[in-house]
Parts: sequence; C-alpha cells; structure tokens
Amino acid sequence: MKIAVPKESGAGERRVALVPDAAAKLLAAGFDVAVEEGAGISAGFPDADYAAAGVRLVPREELLPGAGAVARVGRPSAAEVAALEPGTVLVGFLSPLTDPEGIAELSRRGIVAFAMESIPRITRAQAMDALSSQSTVAGYKAVVLAADRLPRLFPLLMTAAGTVAPARVLVLGAGVAGLQAIATARRLGAVVSGFDVRAAVREQVESLGASFLDLGVQGRETEGGYAAELTADEQARQQAALAERIPDYDVVVTTALVPGRPAPKLIPATAVERMRPGSVIVDLAAETGGNCELTRPGAEIEHGGVRIVGLGDLAAQMPYHASQLYSRNVSALLLHLAPHGELALDFDDEITAGACVTRQKVLA
Ligand code: NAD
Repeated sequence: MKIAVPKESGAGERRVALVPDAAAKLLAAGFDVAVEEGAGISAGFPDADYAAAGVRLVPREELLPGAGAVARVGRPSAAEVAALEPGTVLVGFLSPLTDPEGIAELSRRGIVAFAMESIPRITRAQAMDALSSQSTVAGYKAVVLAADRLPRLFPLLMTAAGTVAPARVLVLGAGVAGLQAIATARRLGAVVSGFDVRAAVREQVESLGASFLDLGVQGRETEGGYAAELTADEQARQQAALAERIPDYDVVVTTALVPGRPAPKLIPATAVERMRPGSVIVDLAAETGGNCELTRPGAEIEHGGVRIVGLGDLAAQMPYHASQLYSRNVSALLLHLAPHGELALDFDDEITAGACVTRQKVLA
C-alpha cells in the first residue's frame, strides 16, 4: 500500500507527519512511502534526508493518485479532500468533535478517516497517543515562551550584585501539557504551583516539586479520565478564587481543556488587571477559545502591561521533535491498520473502531 505524506497546509503548521527515519521503517515493513517535495523542510528535515533514507519524493500532482493511505498532521484542505480517491485511509488530527462538517464531507467522499484525537487512551494504544506526545511538546514550549517574555529571571540567583528572587509560576490544568509545563518551569528554577479540577492529579503535581493550589473547587472525572465541564456555579467560584490568587504569580500557563467543549474560562479580565505589569500568561487553550477571557487566539497581546500569549498549537512551533514523536504515533497506527503492508481493517477492534470517524458511511 502506498502511504502519501503531503506538505502541511494549515496556517503556522511546521510539522510533517512522517520524518525520514519513520518513513524508512515503514518502507522496511513493506509499505510504499511517497513524501511531497519540501514536506519536511520547515520541521528541519530537508528532502535530502528523505532521499538518503531511501524515501521517494514526489511533486504534489503525483502524490495522491494511487495512495491507499494519506498521513498528515492537520486537516486536509478542501482541494485535497476532493483529490482523494474513495476508500482512501486518512490519518491526522481531524477535529471530529469541533469540525463535524469536515468529517461529514470526508464521509460523503467515502474516505476512511482516522482521527488521532479519537484513538482510545488505553495501554495498548499508548504508542499511538499523539494527544500526549504533542501536549508534552506544547507544555514545554509554553514555559520556554513565558521565560522569554518575562522581564525577570526564573531561578533564584545569589550574586555579588545582589540576590534575585525566583519567578513564581502557576500552571492551570495538570494533564499531560500541564505536568510537562510544571516540570519545565521547575527545571528553570521557578517556584511552581499547579491546579486541576481532577483531585487525582494533586499527587502528580507534588511529585514534580510543585505545590497544589487549593481553590476549594473540585470537578468530576469522566470514565476516560478527562475532566467533566464545571457547572456555572462552580466555574464562577473558580474564577473568583483565582482572581484572588493570581496577582501572586509572575507567570500563569493555562492548559485546561474539556474534550469537545469550548475551553473553560478560568481567568476573567478583572484578574488580569490585578497582575503586576510585566507578568505573562501563556494560554495553551487559545485554539478552543482560551482559558483567559482576554486571550486573542493566534495572537500575542498586552493588557495593562500583562502579556497574554495565545499563539495556537505550540507543538507546531517546536516542529522537529513534535514531528519525530508524531511520526512514531502515526506509524504505530498505520501498522495497526495494515500489519503486513496491506490494509486489514477490523472494526471489532477497539482502537480501529474508536479512531475511525467516518465509519457509518463505510459500513453503509
Ligand atoms: P486535557 O488536555 O483534556 O485537559 C487538560 C487538563 O485540564 C486536564 O487535566 C483537565 O482535568 C484540566 N481541566 C479541565 N477543566 C479544568 C478547569 N476548569 N480548571 C482546571 N483544570 C481543568 O487532558 P489530557 O492532558 O489529555 O489528560 C486527560 C487525562 O487522560 C489525564 O488523566 C491523563 O492522565 C489521561 N491520559 C491517559 C493516557 C493513557 O492511559 N494512555 C494517556 C494520556 C493521558
């Protein structure tokens, strides 16, 4: 089966779905792999690296014809969807919960689409867990960005010219991205606090050397281990408690998400207005509306001297390792769907059935 890897077309997207090493491994496993010319350049993988790994580079017009599977990072453009042959397997972050129209169009076209975000988070599927791999990168990058924007140092320094107090960092949402943000801020020497509505993460936050911020608000956890949305009353209490505590911090990194819902609003404008000038908020939830009321998705703004960074998917801005990890996730899924180089879709399998977002159409 031919696997086609297009150059990503999304705004600000610098990742590539398969890096040379991963593509070479799929070749060795019996697949034919074709990568669009220039697909890896913005991630730090020039065409020469693919060629050296024995991977075929092709111009756009030769990429899709004959492809049994297309591996990409983000959603395909309308033109790409129109160019896919019915029955083609498509793998990528397809936003099934927030782009039902896009999924319906794939379905109408007879595409067999697998959304990386729909892969069940079971032990057997850990190697395919792209939400985790990309959140890990984004959590790291969020703190590095904050450290860059902050006009203060992160670590405690004792020098002949005086003592510098460490920066105080608060991380809201302690899932995969939040825990990585906590670990990164700790490594840079900040004093870190974390908060999550899932009580179970307190121990994880503390094991990273951060303190758990007690806001007196505790949410529920769904069966899949995700947070359930807070009630309006709980949300109002959380906002009020945070407004009290936020002025204590130099940096706030927010990562709170509820699958399929707009990002919970944690930081009202009034709380931002109480922060010291020069403070920084990095809002990892910007793409789904932001955890801060003032976040402008895709932009970096200043409000009363506080910088609010809402730059979208930060994993795309650390594209080398994000692509390397994502490649591993995509390869594991492709090998699951086509164990011997040819498709063998088993919809009784939990991973295959869970990840396929156009299955109704396929069975019809
Ligand atoms: P996520 O990206 O959906 O959300 C990020 C965090 O925001 C979560 O920890 C969530 O509890 C928190 N949150 C939601 N609303 C909030 C609010 N109002 N205030 C504060 N925090 C709020 O989560 P994720 O990082 O994808 O992880 C979700 C769960 O899945 C975790 O329990 C994680 O351990 C688990 N997980 C399991 C596997 C596996 O078993 N293979 C892999 C990865 C993650």
